[in-house]
Amino acid sequence: MNNLKRNRNNEVAAEEQAGNANRRPVELVYLPLITHDHREQEDFSKMSGEFSVQEYIQELIRSDPANIVKICEPPKGADTAVWQYEHLRQFVLELNLLVVQLQGICNTKSCPKMKATEEWLYLCACHPTTQECPAIDYMIHTLDYAAALLTNQKYFPSRTSIPPSSSKHMSSLVRRLYRLFAHTYYNHQEIFTEFENEMHLCERFTEFASRFDMMPPKLFCIPLFNSRVRKTKE
Ligand SMILES: [Zn+2]
Ligand SMILES: [Zn+2]
Repeated sequence: MNNLKRNRNNEVAAEEQAGNANRRPVELVYLPLITHDHREQEDFSKMSGEFSVQEYIQELIRSDPANIVKICEPPKGADTAVWQYEHLRQFVLELNLLVVQLQGICNTKSCPKMKATEEWLYLCACHPTTQECPAIDYMIHTLDYAAALLTNQKYFPSRTSIPPSSSKHMSSLVRRLYRLFAHTYYNHQEIFTEFENEMHLCERFTEFASRFDMMPPKLFCIPLFNSRVRKTKE
């Protein structure tokens, strides 16, 4: 493993540990994710160590963020649950960048409640009893919860093997994270579009969640990516 990769891993770990107080300006963190990298793709089967899946995913994203089918496709020999877990870590990382973009624009005045369309009001489950949080707080609470869950040794003691009983936590997290896209899409379309054009994050998330059946089709409420939602399962 070369130094560049090590640094990147440290950066990712630091980013995940950083709470909401330290969200960095987005320019600083965008770069490693969108620099297109035309190095030869490393062969997954030759990669080893607990960061190999994460590195592989990040390389796929860097080399072509728009190729979401390829990015979501588990390579031969990959453990599906580990693959899902590492994708979730990556989504949390990149969703933090989206929230950075929303800060100042999405606030308690503009969005006192966490809504997508008028039809959907989401209650924040990051408190002893669920409550109505303003949208920006809801998003920050959910991302902090996600980072805490994914690093919780009780559910995810290792990055190379995921206990079967922890899969349900991943699916539930997927449903909660999707709401961040839904709010942004319906309330801050300009930011959504700008971010999506560069990162293809919501499209990748839709492909991922649908491909692994982690969310019922009816919950995908962003029509833009309807074609990614597999309709056969309920
Ligand atoms: Zn908002
Ligand atoms: Zn909350």
